[in-house]
Amino acid sequence: MSVPPLTDAQREELRQALVALQDELRDMLDLSADGAKPVELDQPIGRLSRMDAMQQQSMTRANRLEAENRLKRVESALSRVEAGTYGACLSCRQPVAFKRLQAQPDALLCINCQGAKDR
Ligand SMILES: [Zn+2]
Repeated sequence: MSVPPLTDAQREELRQALVALQDELRDMLDLSADGAKPVELDQPIGRLSRMDAMQQQSMTRANRLEAENRLKRVESALSRVEAGTYGACLSCRQPVAFKRLQAQPDALLCINCQGAKDR
């Protein structure tokens, strides 16, 4: 059961999804830039709420890191679209299923290689 390579229309659909994802991630990083700063003064700073705020802050940092990493993946996927190598598994070079890319346009590996990696 080999996977057919992407058609031009599918590739274009995924390119648009990647661009949308890129915008979304950039917006998120812009918005959360404030959240990564020290605790705001308009918040009630009791001992507990301060701990909450600090916890929130470290979550924001983790989310930012996650978003930054994903943005890098999305950007490298877009450059592979430009280069004409998008849609091929980076490990086995076989086409990645369109449905998989629809769910995760920045996926690097086909389902088989991803499965082997997670195991
Ligand atoms: Zn593969």
